[in-house]
Amino acid sequence: MASIRELHEQIISKERSAVEITQEALNRIQELEPKLHSFLTVTTEQALKQAQAVDAKIAAGEEIGILAGIPIGIKDNLCTKGIVTTCASRILENFVPPYESTVTQKLADAGGVMVGKTNLDEFAMGSSTENSAYQVTANPWDLSRVPGGSSGGSAAAVAADECVVSLGSDTGGSIRQPASFCGVVGMKPTYGLVSRYGLVAYASSLDQIGPFGRSVEDAAILLSAIAGYDPQDSTSLKVAIPNYAASLKPDLKVGKKLRIGVITETFGEGLDPEVEAAVTKAIEQLQELGAEIHPISCPSFRYGLPTYYIIAPSEASANLARYDGVKYGLRSPDADNLLSMYTRTRSQGFGAEVKRRIMIGTYALSAGYYDAYYLKAQKVRTLIKQDFEKAFETVDVLISPTAPTTAFQAGEKTTDPLSMYLNDLMTIPANLAGLPGISLPCGFDSKGLPIGLQIVGKVLGEEQLFQIAYAYEQSTNWHLQKPKIA
Ligand code: GLN
Repeated sequence: MASIRELHEQIISKERSAVEITQEALNRIQELEPKLHSFLTVTTEQALKQAQAVDAKIAAGEEIGILAGIPIGIKDNLCTKGIVTTCASRILENFVPPYESTVTQKLADAGGVMVGKTNLDEFAMGSSTENSAYQVTANPWDLSRVPGGSSGGSAAAVAADECVVSLGSDTGGSIRQPASFCGVVGMKPTYGLVSRYGLVAYASSLDQIGPFGRSVEDAAILLSAIAGYDPQDSTSLKVAIPNYAASLKPDLKVGKKLRIGVITETFGEGLDPEVEAAVTKAIEQLQELGAEIHPISCPSFRYGLPTYYIIAPSEASANLARYDGVKYGLRSPDADNLLSMYTRTRSQGFGAEVKRRIMIGTYALSAGYYDAYYLKAQKVRTLIKQDFEKAFETVDVLISPTAPTTAFQAGEKTTDPLSMYLNDLMTIPANLAGLPGISLPCGFDSKGLPIGLQIVGKVLGEEQLFQIAYAYEQSTNWHLQKPKIA
């Protein structure tokens, strides 16, 4: 499928209708899903209705916005009114939200066409989308490999051209790591930039919704559409939202020289040599484009992983307490009293990883352990934030690989949670500090698998991140490569 801008031109010049474009996406979904499994629900009827509404506007000579008629995939942890929202969990198997999330409402208001709800790790807990209770999504570049996670369905759908752009959520890397594995662009915005109203909560102090696109421009357009203050989310920031796509330029040689810090701790041991080589080359390329490169040490980042895996499960254990068989979704039929109804529902409804996290989180928050675990983790979180603050005294943005490796084989890490958690090593610090981060393609390994480059910016630094990413992207042709399946 073409880019948002190209499709928009086609629609307003009446070269193609929104219905035709939507049908193209739906056909691809039908053709590829037996192999890819990126969608949990395909919303054919509603999508065609939304597309018809756009075509009616065109026929009436009305103006349409840039996203009108564009096929979009939505991660299935975003509530969509009247459309089942499962979080890839059995416990929400038949949950039909009575309300719409702010982001999906904004997209609908902009004329965007939702083609379906995408697969994820159950409740967004995981790094491979294998924790879905329903299906395992394949990586479009190699069907025997994972797409990353937890927003693996959203990343794979965009990479395979099943939709033009998609939404994911990122608590510890769940947009950036799958973007890296699937060779697309993914951004986690500043905490509070995008309303989380209607996002099923995982770890509330870390969760953010963000865009996937095949190009920086597509991702930028999508973020402009979903960002902005929302009185229904108490963590929502009251800031003006720029038109991110409007300020993209193909070079970095404007104004003050851009200073890029390379996080030294993210290189060396544990990093796949082919990933290291590609990222090093990308850094040289950025230098050629006019940036100054500085090695920067962030010594506390090595505590990021253990800190995150205390804070995230703790918050998750509180957030997931509401799934008790009374209010939502599944209720165990074979209980003889209230307590056994609770326990049976939860034991049947949650998968192994979710249970593991509920137990870890409950333990870490329990009386007597709170200070030793949760409080301690919050203190380390402050140290990590301070590392960023210190780094940003000398550089404008920080660069690292997005993930230590390229996409791994399905089943390779499912029996070893710790090796799965290691995937999040480089993405977690930005969540702990609430900072924006983008992942974009920067090459391929010898197996033909995409490699991702991560750039992390200051609070509300999205505009600058998009500019840097765009300048780099335009000087390469990584984003033009397509997986064979597409
Ligand atoms: N992989 C991380 C986890 O399992 C991050 C998940 C996310 O960002 N939602 O928690």
